[in-house]
Amino acid sequence: MSGEPITYERCNSCGRNWVLPRTLCPSCGSAAIEQVTACGNGRVFAATVVYRAPSEAYRPLVPYRIGLVDLDEGPRLMAHLQGEVPIGACVEGRMETVAGETIPVFARAGTDDRTAGGERGDGNGTGNHVGGQGGGRHRSGRRHRP
Ligand SMILES: [Zn+2]
Repeated sequence: MSGEPITYERCNSCGRNWVLPRTLCPSCGSAAIEQVTACGNGRVFAATVVYRAPSEAYRPLVPYRIGLVDLDEGPRLMAHLQGEVPIGACVEGRMETVAGETIPVFARAGTDDRTAGGERGDGNGTGNHVGGQGGGRHRSGRRHRP
């Protein structure tokens, strides 16, 4: 991944943090808000697959995964997920441009394709065989195959 780091906002008055930009703290109403750069690591709280594009720009991308990710710093944000990212998995993310918008994109932490050098995952990684580790991975009936 190559994008900007993910940022969030923090209240300097009460210490609460959150992701979407606000002018006042949702907890104590203070305006003493600062923007903080997240380390980019987090854990998947929920994940789903989008089959129906919300707009024309997203149509070439479907199906794609989105999820709720809890950053290590605390805030929860909605993000795109790359590859097989089960709920509870540790992920790392950056801000990436997807369908013309800059949004957080997370991929599973510690996978080899990040350290392999200049290889970019531009959505064509069909040849990548994922899932070498851990036999007996629980597969739920979550997939919808017609
Ligand atoms: Zn506050």
